[in-house]
Amino acid sequence: MDGTRSIDWSGYADAAVRRWEAGIDEVVPHPSLVLDDERTREALDALTQRLEENYPFFSPRYAGQMLKPPHPAAVAAYHATMRINPNAHALDGGPATSRLEKEVVADLAGMFGFDRGALGYLTSSGTIANLEALFVARSSHPGLAVAYGAGAHYTHARMCEVLGIEGITVPADGRGRIDLEALATLLRSGRVGTVVTTAGTTGLGAVDQVQDVVALAREHGARVHVDAAYGGFFTLLARRAQPLVDPEPWLALAGADSIVVDPHKHGLQPYGCGAVLFADPTVARFYLHDSPYTYFTSDELHLGEISLECSRAGAAAAALWTTLRLLPLRGDGGLGDVVAACRRAALAFDARVAASEVLATYQGAELDIVTYLDRRARTTSEVDATSERVLREGMADPDPVYVSTLSVSAADLVGRHPHVRADTDHVRVLSSVLMKPEHEGAVPWLVDRLETLAGRDPAGG
Ligand SMILES: *Cc1c(COP(=O)(O)O)cnc(C)c1O
Repeated sequence: MDGTRSIDWSGYADAAVRRWEAGIDEVVPHPSLVLDDERTREALDALTQRLEENYPFFSPRYAGQMLKPPHPAAVAAYHATMRINPNAHALDGGPATSRLEKEVVADLAGMFGFDRGALGYLTSSGTIANLEALFVARSSHPGLAVAYGAGAHYTHARMCEVLGIEGITVPADGRGRIDLEALATLLRSGRVGTVVTTAGTTGLGAVDQVQDVVALAREHGARVHVDAAYGGFFTLLARRAQPLVDPEPWLALAGADSIVVDPHKHGLQPYGCGAVLFADPTVARFYLHDSPYTYFTSDELHLGEISLECSRAGAAAAALWTTLRLLPLRGDGGLGDVVAACRRAALAFDARVAASEVLATYQGAELDIVTYLDRRARTTSEVDATSERVLREGMADPDPVYVSTLSVSAADLVGRHPHVRADTDHVRVLSSVLMKPEHEGAVPWLVDRLETLAGRDPAGG
């Protein structure tokens, strides 16, 4: 059986840090900080009770948004390091975790086929990581616009506003990817300095044809930024003996100028762990500043000096480092096996839905995000009504299932399902992010439940 489950690894690592502390000094807590047992128990009981309002993200029943708990190894490492609370803003804020950060950044760079000496750092989120990449894009291609696909994360439009650069939306093709012809036309105008291409859109998990985007951008002297915040770790599947994704776009990431990936999405980390990577380490020059607050004891380039963020949790680097030691960035074995199970879950889900009399696939999954709708609906308002009902009744059911909805334009839906008549502008389809490897085994149950819910007579039968 799984013997690891009986060991409290958080307590184990915590005890080691306490031993280290005890070897240095014994600090008697100041009376203002001393806990009263009774009140502490009450406060923590009150908290844990409040936490029960959460949806069960840990369970395969939860097949909604991009949410799941971190791996126990990440929890143990984060918890133990947090006792020390190193700050990644400067080398002296946490020498140990600063080194761990450099090691994990090299690992992430290697996963994408970047040189292991590429510049990069961990950020508090994918949003901030993308901001860093667009900040460098603006500095290296001043006065020129940033182009991104219609399926790109809304952060790109917002961050262009923050940075005062023109952002241009390129239409999506019939599969939610950046439209290559529209992009080529736009690039010919000479207005674009940087193209953002998305490897795994947040809504559909659509993967842009990165290989073609890179080629087009190069033809016109534009920079390429890949937003792989969600999809990045699927690059491991392109390198498996039996690839579970079309390898071409993933292998093309190596030719980009910058890449963002969120270890707090598919890297088994707690929130607070995004990452940005730059192929050309000399972009660090755009960040030069002279902080009066940091205290430098070495000439070594420190990652905290070349990021827009100041304080960052050193514990995030420790957690990712420990996780990758146990589940390395390999296609076969390690983290690749985790992502592969999620990918197989999506393929199995789509296969069942294709054979269903009640449900139909909205768009076939490219990653582990599945989208589906009421097969029997004749209008977009009927599609929308079933989606809303399954979402609501699924949660309230005694045998609950948690899904989410994705709002798409009626034109996008009719493009994929021409027999549906558009009687609304927008329509919600159902969507499930099958990002836990346990979802693989749960697919038959899951589709069964969803068919039952969707097939119920809306009048309450
Ligand atoms: C999640 C996501 C983001 C935003 O990242 P956060 O970590 O939520 O800030 C950006 N781009 C894509 C493609 C994403 O999936």
